[in-house]
Amino acid sequence: MNATVPGALRAATPVYSDPAAAFIAAHDFDRPTLVVSRAKVASAYDALKSGLGDAHIHYAVKANPEPQIIRTLVLKGSGFDAASRQEIELCLSQGADPAHISFGNTIKRGADIAFAYGVGVRLFAADSEAELEKIALHAPGARVYLRLIVENSLADWPLSRKFGCAPSALPGLLDCAAKLGLVAYGLSFHVGSQTRRAAFWFPVLDQIAALWHGARADGHDLQLLNLGGGFPAFYGEHVEAPRSYAASVVDAVTERFGHVPHLMAEPGRGLVAEAGHIAAEVLLVSRKSAEDMHRWVYLDIGRFSGLAETEGEAIRYQIVTSHGDVETGPCVLAGPSCDSADILYEKRPVNLPLALRHGDKVVIRNCGAYTSSYSSVGFNGFPPLDVIVL
Ligand SMILES: *Cc1c(COP(=O)(O)O)cnc(C)c1O
Repeated sequence: MNATVPGALRAATPVYSDPAAAFIAAHDFDRPTLVVSRAKVASAYDALKSGLGDAHIHYAVKANPEPQIIRTLVLKGSGFDAASRQEIELCLSQGADPAHISFGNTIKRGADIAFAYGVGVRLFAADSEAELEKIALHAPGARVYLRLIVENSLADWPLSRKFGCAPSALPGLLDCAAKLGLVAYGLSFHVGSQTRRAAFWFPVLDQIAALWHGARADGHDLQLLNLGGGFPAFYGEHVEAPRSYAASVVDAVTERFGHVPHLMAEPGRGLVAEAGHIAAEVLLVSRKSAEDMHRWVYLDIGRFSGLAETEGEAIRYQIVTSHGDVETGPCVLAGPSCDSADILYEKRPVNLPLALRHGDKVVIRNCGAYTSSYSSVGFNGFPPLDVIVL
């Protein structure tokens, strides 16, 4: 950490009620820094857990793999959804029980499956015959769940195309798993990340329920329904409170599936996004010509150093300055690297104070998910995102 306590800025900064915001207001930073509060992660876990009832939570590690966050969730009783050997090792190093780790990537290295099996992981995802064969070879007799493609995702950050099998392929894959000596344990899907309303789940749950009942009618004794992630964070547009959102999803599941013996959810964003904010700095405010309607505001953080989810302007972070929002004007917001793709918001410009100057500190709100984990090793020499866990 490189934070130092500042002089003048403190008085001008609005007072916040959360630890990460308070820490940022009270310190200066010499590089973009994500500050995350473990207490907020723990309370987000409690809120989701109370809405999800009996469903087991497996935190999607990729959303934020800080060891102290993993540890906090271990102590809360969370399970983990890991995508690689390294993520499994991370969870184990923080005390996670391998029986509560699922290997949820549908594209695994054979040696990593063997490693996972060797340390006691027993639950694996697949969406193809070749992956089932790898699992049968390296993790004989393990439980597998089959991931399905979700069509027509209404999420802000859809994940639909890359993962999952087509509904028509499911019966063959379930038979294949059984033939290979695996336990065809259940189904999974991902509704799409940042699915802002619980009602957006309903058409997806309709699709999956039809397949679930069909598979059971075919004699597959499915036990597990893995709901994946998708639980939203607040970025400025209204989202339902986590507890009631999760409860609506579970009610909708019960309506369509009846009693599910083993219900599981894999929130990533919903557990960590609101627990963290990024302290950043304005490097330059300029116009391309005297007639330019927009100012260009360049920050010391961009698409390659943590803000990857601004791709397509999909996730619109809230940006807070110390000027308040009295007199504002439209700005194109960009990162510091010499790559023209490093523009954060241009199609829908951001309103920022007219008084904004280089050297000003800005706070990018609710950035605890998919920022440090997406930040590159140092593209163009800009350092990867620094993280402080409170
Ligand atoms: C990324 C991921 C998640 C987490 O998704 P969020 O939308 O952040 O909750 C859950 N499950 C799987 C398989 C994932 O790849």
